[in-house]
Amino acid sequence: MIRKLLHRVFNRKPAAPVPLSSSSSSGLRIISCRQHRITRDHISSCALKVTSELQEAGYAAFVVGGAARDVLLGLEPKDFDVATNATPEEVRSIFRRSRIIGRRFRLVHVMCGPETVEVSTFRGSMPLGEDNEGAPHVHADEHGRLLRDNVFGSQEEDARRRDFTVNALFFDPVKGEIWDYLDGYEDIEAKRLRIIGDPIRRYREDPVRMLRAVRLAAKLDMQIDAGTAAPIADLAPLLQNVPPSRLFDEMLKLLLSGHASACVLDLRRRGLHHGLLPMLDAILEQPLGERFIMLALENTDQRVREEKPVSPGFLFAALLWHEVLTAWDARQHTGEKVIPALHQAMSDVLAIQNKKLAIPHRYDAIMKEIWAMQPRFTGRSGRRPFRLLENPRFRAAYDFMLLRCESGELDRELGKWWEAFQRADPREREAMLLKDDTPGKRKRSRARKKPASVGEPALRNKGAIRE
Ligand code: ATP
Ligand code: MG
Repeated sequence: MIRKLLHRVFNRKPAAPVPLSSSSSSGLRIISCRQHRITRDHISSCALKVTSELQEAGYAAFVVGGAARDVLLGLEPKDFDVATNATPEEVRSIFRRSRIIGRRFRLVHVMCGPETVEVSTFRGSMPLGEDNEGAPHVHADEHGRLLRDNVFGSQEEDARRRDFTVNALFFDPVKGEIWDYLDGYEDIEAKRLRIIGDPIRRYREDPVRMLRAVRLAAKLDMQIDAGTAAPIADLAPLLQNVPPSRLFDEMLKLLLSGHASACVLDLRRRGLHHGLLPMLDAILEQPLGERFIMLALENTDQRVREEKPVSPGFLFAALLWHEVLTAWDARQHTGEKVIPALHQAMSDVLAIQNKKLAIPHRYDAIMKEIWAMQPRFTGRSGRRPFRLLENPRFRAAYDFMLLRCESGELDRELGKWWEAFQRADPREREAMLLKDDTPGKRKRSRARKKPASVGEPALRNKGAIRE
């Protein structure tokens, strides 16, 4: 309390400029709560506490970005971000439970109970262009991609450096006002996703904005404005210059958005998928590949909407499965043995993939396990089905196999058999086993030294996988 009082007396800063009318020369429009009908009840208690305490200490403070936008659209925000003219140190000194994070651009995390609100100081972006000698500024690469945008700025600059107009609204929950510099409020009402500034320059600065356009349009049920959409097809190759880890984060957001199937179709329509999952276009053009991927994505969307857990490893295993099949097939055609060929194909596909969209290695194990278990579902004699059931990854591999059945890659009868086998009691299970009449199979399996997860029936080509 004393800390706050001292702050108010000694640290008082002018709040953000207050315009004389509801619309100023900078284009600022202030929308009152009578018009927008958003109340403080729509804001989390932590965001409310942070904005009001910052304002009490004499600073400007607003709920910004996705939270302000989602509340206006009647959606529930995932998290609340606050923007202020206080520096990170000043924010830190006001909130006891807070910490400064980030090196490039420092932010403050303020904790209230289990909730964390991210507080950032208004930020400007450094102008692009050339210096006096005609050399490009060092903070952009040769394609215009911004390498640094870590300077403090005014509130209006903070609005302008954001990506889309609907993401550049400032909501003051204390006064109940929305501050809009870029006609984002109108765009919210028109359900129009419009990039701020010159689209070509903004995509060059950060090509990930093209992916964000696709994701946000699907999530928010908005139309991408014609001017915002037009340059995407030409600029899509710029995604190749984005660090793979950043692409992965953005792709994961897209795939777990609950609108993955719509997003992937739109990515393809706009030619944005090339740099993300190599050969995704080729896969989507094969009827089996397309059906399989769309089923996996629809399944994921359904789970996200039902708030069920989703495994990114499972999803990436699905997206890359038809590549594994192709590579596996090719290796067998050159005479490699079935199981070593599968394992080699899995490694090849992951290696190619990692150059483009770095799937963190923590997902490799689950992807490989799901793939490696697939041939084992065709073994329905002896002890093999029992051993498979005991595998800790059985459930994921089984769900994956069901997708293969549903997409037409495997006979549906196989999926039904496994479903029944799981439900059956021990006696019924014994009765369900198939007779192992593959010549030489018994002898080979007795002599086999490999672990159970590898040696399984020969699958010479994709057609042979069908039972
Ligand atoms: P979501 O609800 O999916 O989190 P979001 O818009 O909140 O969507 P974040 O990644 O959380 O997305 O970003 C928060 C805000 O930061 C955005 O609303 C936008 O104002 C700004 N922002 C994010 N990414 C960019 C970018 N690439 N370029 C410019 N501004 C960005
Ligand atoms: Mg967000």
